[in-house]
Amino acid sequence: MSGRLQGKTAIVTAAAQGIGCAIAKAFVAEGAKVIATDINADKLAELGSTPGITTMVLDATDTNAVNVAAASVGTVDVLANCTGFVHHGTILECGEDDYDFSMELNVKASYRMIRAFMPGMIENGGGSIVNIASVASNIAGVPNRFIYGASKAGLIGLTKSVAKDFVTKGIRCNAICPGTVQSPSLDDRINALPDPVQAKKDFISRQPMGRLGSAEEIAAIAVHLASDESGFTTGIEYIVDGAMTL
Ligand code: NAD
Repeated sequence: MSGRLQGKTAIVTAAAQGIGCAIAKAFVAEGAKVIATDINADKLAELGSTPGITTMVLDATDTNAVNVAAASVGTVDVLANCTGFVHHGTILECGEDDYDFSMELNVKASYRMIRAFMPGMIENGGGSIVNIASVASNIAGVPNRFIYGASKAGLIGLTKSVAKDFVTKGIRCNAICPGTVQSPSLDDRINALPDPVQAKKDFISRQPMGRLGSAEEIAAIAVHLASDESGFTTGIEYIVDGAMTL
């Protein structure tokens, strides 16, 4: 089999469902060996039967576990950081625990993974890091997404900083900024609102294309950024939002 990621090894966080899962499947379809990680062991097990995918239960907020995983996995060519949590509310509804949790999962988990896997990439002469951010960030203010937007802006800043510091080491670091994408957690958020039918219409109405994005459409960009075809691209915020912020 040949593909754009042939011969590469990739580790993906939050890979049990949604965008992370689609990225793990797209990477393997392009010839990569994939280590798909998540905290949800049951959902992750569903991926385990896919040839080319090895699953590993890994809490990306646990520094010790991440370091143990890096030691056991060894060098990877690609790191896709997909963890993220959407807190609903303005700054006035965001308590300190909400703030800390979102910064932890949306920014620090990527910091931790990059620190653990970067030495292997440096030794290997290069690598590609893909961080899943959002257009709700420095790109656009979105109502009731205070700490989500602030933390995803932090992740974009982290991306640019890592890209700048390691550009001469052959390491590229890019962020993908999706608009609204169909995923299990989006369904959960919709169903938690008082009128789920109207809530779904509202999510769709903020997408000028009149539909939500698919996880596969985000994964296609991740393949591009992970592969050598994007070899001259680093430090960018790749907007894939169905014209939400156009
Ligand atoms: P999702 O929210 O449905 O799934 C997230 C996955 O993360 C789950 O499998 C969960 O078990 C896992 N997870 C949670 N805590 C974890 C931890 N501590 N360590 C490892 N894994 C953990 O997936 P999604 O909606 O596709 O979101 C994926 C990423 O894309 C997130 O970073 C999200 O912020 C971003 N994003 C999503 C949308 C969207 O509309 N769905 C839009 C823009 C950005």
